[in-house]
Amino acid sequence: MNIDKKDNNILIDKEETQEFDHRINIRELNIRELQDYVAEIGYPKYVGTQIFDWLHRKSVFNFENMTNLSQDMREHLIQNFVAPVISIKRKLYSNVDDTIKYLFELSDGECVEAVVMKYKYGYTLCISTQAGCKMGCKFCASSVCKFTRNLSISEMLDEIMLVEKDLNTKILNLVLMGIGEPLDNLDNVVKFLKMLPCKYGLNLGLRRVTVSTCGLVDKIYELMKYRLPVTLSISLHATTDEVRDKIMPVNKKWNIESLIKAADDYFNYTSRRVSFEYVLINELNDSPEQALELVRLLGDRVCHVNLIPLNDIKERNFKRSIPERVFAFQKILRKYEINTTVRRELGADIRAACGQLRRKEREN
Ligand code: SAH
Repeated sequence: MNIDKKDNNILIDKEETQEFDHRINIRELNIRELQDYVAEIGYPKYVGTQIFDWLHRKSVFNFENMTNLSQDMREHLIQNFVAPVISIKRKLYSNVDDTIKYLFELSDGECVEAVVMKYKYGYTLCISTQAGCKMGCKFCASSVCKFTRNLSISEMLDEIMLVEKDLNTKILNLVLMGIGEPLDNLDNVVKFLKMLPCKYGLNLGLRRVTVSTCGLVDKIYELMKYRLPVTLSISLHATTDEVRDKIMPVNKKWNIESLIKAADDYFNYTSRRVSFEYVLINELNDSPEQALELVRLLGDRVCHVNLIPLNDIKERNFKRSIPERVFAFQKILRKYEINTTVRRELGADIRAACGQLRRKEREN
């Protein structure tokens, strides 16, 4: 305590007045960490499994309701842990297909989006990894709204758990292609990914997960070291540095050559086929010559190219390629036996491209 002699007021040190919540987010501990933790405080390891099961399979976050735990253990959890959850703020159904878009509200009022797409073989969920994005790609709605923060492990888990619960279904495939750059939040993303296959949790195999990056080369090498069997998807979008520099600021730091080299190293190290995303923007990167350049660039690599006709964003001048140019581009890739698909446009009426709903919400 400080005593201010001048006016005899008693000033209390700031640290003494602020109540710090020392409690840890229990939903960020994996099953082994929970088992080790309970063992350390004198409980059998299976109690850690029970707690994990409540949190990750039964979606019970109130410690009082974990009825197979002793009262002592429940009390201990209340004193030492928190289990924050996010909530569904809005849900939009497409009238043109089965796409559903979710807007989630995080505990600090931030919003992020996820999109569920129904394919023949089941549901694919696209989730956000950050609130906003720092990468500044010129054609992307996520970069119109500024970056606020990384999503935590439990927030990313929640995106899946809430959708599965809401639709009463199992998500079969997961893509990290919503708002944000997953590799810019690498520590949380890796820990999140490692939790997915746990059979006491979401039980989602990593071979069914795709991580998309705009090309943070150093982080691709970092991710590689974990040897997770995820598919790496690289947002290439151009065949020359001149064009890529114009639309993706990240290219000034990591150019196309270094990115393709990282993709090769990733494939050689993990044996996982790399996939390339190529957004088709009218008269910018969609000419037949550019298709041939792409063929030359990719050579005989084991890869897949996903062509995405641009979703027009009102703040940006870029326009999507006309169907004839998309078709001609794809035809050239196919002629040279490059494995290619054109992404079907899903949920156009509900703004399914990443960041468009969050932007609208912030405008309001
Ligand atoms: N930051 C990561 C993942 C999020 S974006 C990345 O860049 O890969 C997911 C994909 O959507 C990327 O390929 C991105 O370039 C693409 N994308 C962004 N804005 C788009 C738009 N307006 N139309 C079509 N695709 C877009």
